[in-house]
Amino acid sequence: MSESTVQKTRFQKTRCPMPEQEPAVRRHNFNEVPLGYTLEQAMQESARCLNCKKPACVSACPVNVDIPGFLQQVASGDIAAAAEIIKQNNALPAICGRVCPQEAQCEGKCVLDKKFEPVAIGRVERFVADYGLEHNLTGLPSKRPSTGKRVAVIGSGPAGLTAAGDLVLRGHDATIFEAFHKPGGVLIYGIPEFRLPKKIVEREINDLVRLGVDLKLNQVVGRVNTVGELLDGNGFDAIFIGVGAGLPTFLGISGEDLGGVYSANEYLTRSNLMKAYRFPEYDTPVVRGDHVTVVGGGNVAMDAARTALRLGAKTVTIVYRRSRDELPARAEEVHHAGEEGVIFQLLTNPVAIEGNDRGMVQGMKCQRMKLGEPDDSGRRRPVPILNSEFLLETDLVIVAIGAGANPLLTKTMPGLPLNRRGYILTDAHGRTGKERVWSGGDIVTGSATVIQAMGAGRIAARDIHKYLSREGPTPPWVAANEG
Ligand code: FAD
Ligand code: SF4
Repeated sequence: MSESTVQKTRFQKTRCPMPEQEPAVRRHNFNEVPLGYTLEQAMQESARCLNCKKPACVSACPVNVDIPGFLQQVASGDIAAAAEIIKQNNALPAICGRVCPQEAQCEGKCVLDKKFEPVAIGRVERFVADYGLEHNLTGLPSKRPSTGKRVAVIGSGPAGLTAAGDLVLRGHDATIFEAFHKPGGVLIYGIPEFRLPKKIVEREINDLVRLGVDLKLNQVVGRVNTVGELLDGNGFDAIFIGVGAGLPTFLGISGEDLGGVYSANEYLTRSNLMKAYRFPEYDTPVVRGDHVTVVGGGNVAMDAARTALRLGAKTVTIVYRRSRDELPARAEEVHHAGEEGVIFQLLTNPVAIEGNDRGMVQGMKCQRMKLGEPDDSGRRRPVPILNSEFLLETDLVIVAIGAGANPLLTKTMPGLPLNRRGYILTDAHGRTGKERVWSGGDIVTGSATVIQAMGAGRIAARDIHKYLSREGPTPPWVAANEG
């Protein structure tokens, strides 16, 4: 693109649209929905960046990617340089470009957002990562000489992968212990193919393995071995726990034990990890309802609803107790779900699930809600409207109202400080109350985001390195604050 074209596009008020599969076509397949920018589109969009002196987008990024730095390189057509800049702070850019809630992070703080549309940072990041992988642009980063120290990382979600990658770069041995037969955590078993193709996750994990991260699969720590055994018997110098928050939460209403009621976690795992979506190649048992109801309003609910459509449902309804403004899902996912025909029953709350004489779901009794005063989270509290009950006909209910901490590992660590909901307490560096044990990601914060989990992995890796290498004064081990 010539300099004059770049100058012209600098004043574009709106962002370059993302080519996508048509809604009527994509609701019947599992292929990725957004098709990605071309080189020219990426250059055009990047040229909108004002290269701010104090870029608010960077401070709003949990891993502080040099956003204007890589956008300037893309605008000038040097994609290899852009990829290098991103990789300095983000080991999984093809993933983050696709699933980060950019509107609440970098793009939400872009100065252009005050008057125009913010720079489409996520779309350009995705382009750079995909282009780099396709054209083999980025080699592996160089590692520091071996320190001989060994760190065990429990869990291979974004927190564990980032911690392991950063530790290896600093010269330590990192071994990941993963419970499932595939690494990636929610990136593999939760987020569906049409939003995050598995081959992208596999490629980014392969890069970490080529870098030297050792992956041990089918290892449920807490069952096969304990953290204490890893530290004392297996000679690991430090442990990072990144086991996520995968314990499903249920509604606690009658009928939840009927056939045809799933937690979103189980439903998505059957579809993604056990490949129900590749029927008939994989004959994974999963109830395929005609009229599916998903309870919840987050990313997980949108993923479950859009998966149900693709598995052949005639109608899919999202039941959410607050209004559209409070939906916690990424804006793009809500938009895509609506375009694909997902029906939104907002300000609606389930009261009971009703079954037929075969013990299968046939309906859900719901109640209308209105918004009252703000609650502890600052969001307006949903309040039931008297005598507003109605019956929603449905033959499959998917509950997507959040997840909790799985106690399987933590109950094998007596004395480990947890909060009242079972999450691990850490200090600002990821140190837990047990010496030589760090933690981060959803098992500390509760369900959050990919990039926050990565940020926590990075912070802990930095502190583990400091502790193991005794670079500078090492502060005494301080137990995590109770809170
Ligand atoms: P996880 O990704 O949960 O990984 C934990 C890993 O630890 C898993 O592989 C698990 O098998 C393993 N493990 C657990 N216990 C043990 C054990 N005892 N021994 C060994 N291994 C163990 N975030 C976004 O930013 N954008 C999105 O669009 C988005 N969509 C989502 C959609 C769904 C369906 C879900 C469920 C979540 C979504 N999230 C999204 C949230 C995001 O995926 C999580 O915040 C993030 O994955 C947390 O990372 P983590 O590394 O802490 O844990
Ligand atoms: Fe560019 Fe927006 Fe970041 Fe400024 S805030 S540097 S315009 S992306």
